[in-house]
Amino acid sequence: MSTPRKFKNLTFSLYENAHEMKMYESYYKEGSWDKGKIVPFHNIELSPAANILNYGQGVFEGMKAYRSVKGKIVMFRPEENAKRFARSCKKLAIPEVRVDKFMQAVRDIVMENEEFVPESENGSNSMYLRPVCIGTEPLLGVRASTEYIFYIFASPVGPYFDKVGVVRLLVTDVHRTAENSTGDAKAVCNYAVSMRPNREAKAQGFNGVLFLDSVHNKNVEEAGAANFFALMNDDTLVTPRLGAILPGITRESILKIASDLFGFKVEERELGIDEVCENAKECFLSGTGATITSISEISWKDHGYNVNKNDFQLAHRLYDRLLGIQLQREEDPYAWVMEVK
Ligand code: PLP
Repeated sequence: MSTPRKFKNLTFSLYENAHEMKMYESYYKEGSWDKGKIVPFHNIELSPAANILNYGQGVFEGMKAYRSVKGKIVMFRPEENAKRFARSCKKLAIPEVRVDKFMQAVRDIVMENEEFVPESENGSNSMYLRPVCIGTEPLLGVRASTEYIFYIFASPVGPYFDKVGVVRLLVTDVHRTAENSTGDAKAVCNYAVSMRPNREAKAQGFNGVLFLDSVHNKNVEEAGAANFFALMNDDTLVTPRLGAILPGITRESILKIASDLFGFKVEERELGIDEVCENAKECFLSGTGATITSISEISWKDHGYNVNKNDFQLAHRLYDRLLGIQLQREEDPYAWVMEVK
């Protein structure tokens, strides 16, 4: 295996030398996808009237390639990203990118950028993959595009949050999406709406926001780019039910580890913010970017609640086990890890 390049102080941002990397691209025209190919990282030319630029017909994914302790380049449950990508496409009337096409492109892009997969530094560093599909047809009337690009670029990255491990979140009254809308898809519009509340929260010294449901403005949904968990005082691990939120792959893996391997009672249900502030002894976020990030404080209605009276114990346990599996340090009981090389 090639030795990785040396990277200094990686953060979760686009690599300054991305132009030295390769990307994958495939075009959809006249009813079908072309074969797709690996090309140098490059800018994309679009008409000012392209659908994505005007009406936002676009979806994406986020996944990571790691160097494992066995010296392999591995990925965590990449087929789940492929399936979610296909579901997101369907929701936005984008022609399906088949799972096998997606998986081949992912394998190719990792192999072609092998030297950019950093040493993992115990899981904080990886090569992030960003598959994207956008409607490119120039049009004025609001309708689905007849032309698309599916592309994947990559970037070596470090931790998602500036301060590794613990964050403070502000509950916002802005709603990112809704049930029977795009909440359960990784659609670009869901992220556009989170920009302003996130920026305002950061200006107030928080690390990000926590969104509530759009019907009652009462139940916790998720953070801007991560799912939410609360360990209640009775030791039940609760996470918001699916519907309006992204079905996180990390979320599903945590539910399995917590119930099957650790023996916790787990629940997926409506979870009131009042209940969290009053009865949670530990809260954390989960996601490909966030991994497992503890929440020290939630600010709701101008009051700061200490939601961690448990010394972050469960988050640490879950983090160690999940990362242990991802980096091939521990047994992989569910065959979650795919060796790319
Ligand atoms: N929720 C949102 C809005 C996200 O963007 C993400 C992405 O990381 C997640 C949750 C977590 O999903 P996953 O665990 O599949 O990365």
